[in-house]
Amino acid sequence: MTECKECGNQSSSQSIFHEIEVTIEENNSNLDGAIRKYLSEEKLEGANQYFCPKCSCKQNANWRIELKYLPKVFQELKIIKIIENKYVEKK
Ligand SMILES: [Zn+2]
Repeated sequence: MTECKECGNQSSSQSIFHEIEVTIEENNSNLDGAIRKYLSEEKLEGANQYFCPKCSCKQNANWRIELKYLPKVFQELKIIKIIENKYVEKK
């Protein structure tokens, strides 16, 4: 979820699983490191500033995964790991 640093407004991201899949492709040699990266807070600043609906303008914000998403995240990771293993076997 994203939290506006200016007004504290919080919003959930609906594209969270899409973002996770993209990042795993880039880090597919280190899934543990990828998991840790998802759990850490990400700053949305500069070009990545978050558009806050409450402020009606772009603001610096913190983005992080809420705990309630974690079980689903790990399910996704397992599925991706299985697909990767199968792909390796074919080679
Ligand atoms: Zn705001």
